[in-house]
Amino acid sequence: MGVLRNSTCLRQWLTSVGRLCLLLFVIYVPAAGGQALTENRSPRVLVLYPYDERIAATTVAGEAIRARLLDATGGKIDLFSEFLDLARFPEGEYVERMAQFLGEKYVRHRPDVVVALGEQSAKFIVEHRAALARDAKIIVAGFNKSTALKMKMPPDVIGAFTEFNIIKTAALARRLHPSARHLFVLGGSSEFDRWWLETAKAELAEFSKNYDTTYLEDLTIEEFVAKAAAFPADSIVLALTIFQDRSGRNFIPRDAVKQITATASAPVFGPYSTYIDYGSVGGNVVTFEALGESVADLTLDALDGKPITHVQAPHFDVVDARQLKRWGLSEQNLPPGTFQMYRQPTFLEQYWLTVLVVSAVITLQSVFIIILLFERRRRRTAEVESRHRLLEVIHLNQSATAGALSASIAHELNQPLGAIRSNAEAASIVLRSACPDLKLIEQILTDIQDDDQRAHDIISRMRGLLKKRAEIEWQEFDLSELTATAIKILKGEAVRRGIEVRSKPAREPLLVRADKIHVQQVVLNIAINAMDAMTKAGNERKLTLETRLTKDAKAELSISDSGDGIPDDKFATIFEPFYTTKASGTGLGLSIARTIVETYGGRIMASNGGDGGAVFRVVLPLARAETR
Ligand code: ADP
Repeated sequence: MGVLRNSTCLRQWLTSVGRLCLLLFVIYVPAAGGQALTENRSPRVLVLYPYDERIAATTVAGEAIRARLLDATGGKIDLFSEFLDLARFPEGEYVERMAQFLGEKYVRHRPDVVVALGEQSAKFIVEHRAALARDAKIIVAGFNKSTALKMKMPPDVIGAFTEFNIIKTAALARRLHPSARHLFVLGGSSEFDRWWLETAKAELAEFSKNYDTTYLEDLTIEEFVAKAAAFPADSIVLALTIFQDRSGRNFIPRDAVKQITATASAPVFGPYSTYIDYGSVGGNVVTFEALGESVADLTLDALDGKPITHVQAPHFDVVDARQLKRWGLSEQNLPPGTFQMYRQPTFLEQYWLTVLVVSAVITLQSVFIIILLFERRRRRTAEVESRHRLLEVIHLNQSATAGALSASIAHELNQPLGAIRSNAEAASIVLRSACPDLKLIEQILTDIQDDDQRAHDIISRMRGLLKKRAEIEWQEFDLSELTATAIKILKGEAVRRGIEVRSKPAREPLLVRADKIHVQQVVLNIAINAMDAMTKAGNERKLTLETRLTKDAKAELSISDSGDGIPDDKFATIFEPFYTTKASGTGLGLSIARTIVETYGGRIMASNGGDGGAVFRVVLPLARAETR
């Protein structure tokens, strides 16, 4: 963790006073340390932090160490922490006094493993291990191997190193900003900054050939900020460390980077995860959590007495999703496995369950709607088919009625035709006379016209009776008028059977809406049944057709006869298809009548009248019931 380094620290270590204290501790410590080793107790681990508790780099790594150790040991471990604050108190005497103090503090709790986070902590423990933890295993972490070599660390001090390879960060930048033509590499003026910049130059030698490359060094922070504001948009900026600027001002590098990224006109990348919250787009970094976990694994092995060797903390491509957005960099270009911090989940990611449920509901609904539409269509088709069948059945019924009435209709037709012939003969006799009576001839011709009209009416009623319907023809008509027409059709047959037909029309018109031919068929079916029922009746053969307005404002037609009536247990049965008591009956007349009446919203009922004959009542809604 190069960022933990402070170039000004530890210059005055090992002063003569310090050496004296150290000597005292070296003499004192073995007794206490020797005691600890023989105790049956929880292992002790001391974590040294180089700065205070606010420095995220070390505290995050430290927390990761604590979490992993507590988890692995089930809490049976003594964890100690010391914040050395060496950035603010780098003076030699202070450091010596602190070493002395810590030596005394841990005299009865000598750690088995000391973890030194950051270069300064590492230097401290290497210098003072005899005073503080002579027999402890020392694990250092958070800086690179070459720094460790420069520090001349003893071979038994084991490191979890972080090797920063600027090439991987540069490659990430190139993937994210493929149209970039310029490359700017920023480095500070401290010894470490300069070393890092030189290292980066060598590592980027090949990479930088594809860019117009500028290394920005030896600048004050103000100059860095001013230059950053003028970067062309098609630039990649790589920020190394700025521990110190040209004017000698010291920085925590991420603070310097923050000032630069605030005004930069091109995306800035850096190989440190600490830069990410400070305006950097990201880079190939070691996360503090991953570093902490590597250190914890080494510590656990050391506590188990296993041999441990140097390790390298894992690196990851990490980016800040907010910066991707700021610079319009597409996340499609990110290498697989890149960790995106501060990424707002997409609507689909956030509400996937809701979306799934809603889609499922919509799909189910759609399926149901389609099924219902099919069902409706099927039902409509079935309705149309059944209506067509009904119309056909009605027509068959009409034909049968016409057949039954044909003899009487033919007889009825004979009357006007015979009258026409007689009148014609009479007229010809009158014309042949010497002095024809023209007035009489005119009278005869008028009679002929009237008879012709009667014949015409009979034929047109017959034609109406046989009319075939492809569809229902809705009409508005007066039920009393229709009854009168039906009586005219039946009259011949009634006369033939010796039946007196009486008509009692309502005083007011009874306008109903239906197919006239169908309602007429209902009247004929009931009336012919009534005539059939009176074959045995003596001289009292009476058929009465009466229309009236009911109390509940409906049109009613009642047809009563003077026959034997209907047996009490047959009032419902007679309307069922194929029920007949007649030798040549079909049992369909009343069933068809009921279907027709119900099609037009009406009802048909049967009962027996006071004189014993049957009474059939047909009730239909008025065409303009609401206006009455
Ligand atoms: P069909 O006339 O072919 O018998 P219908 O359905 O028209 O068929 O009538 C069914 C039966 O109802 C008749 O056979 C008869 O027994 C009875 N019926 C109908 N009208 C009367 C009536 N006015 N008086 C007595 N019985 C009747």
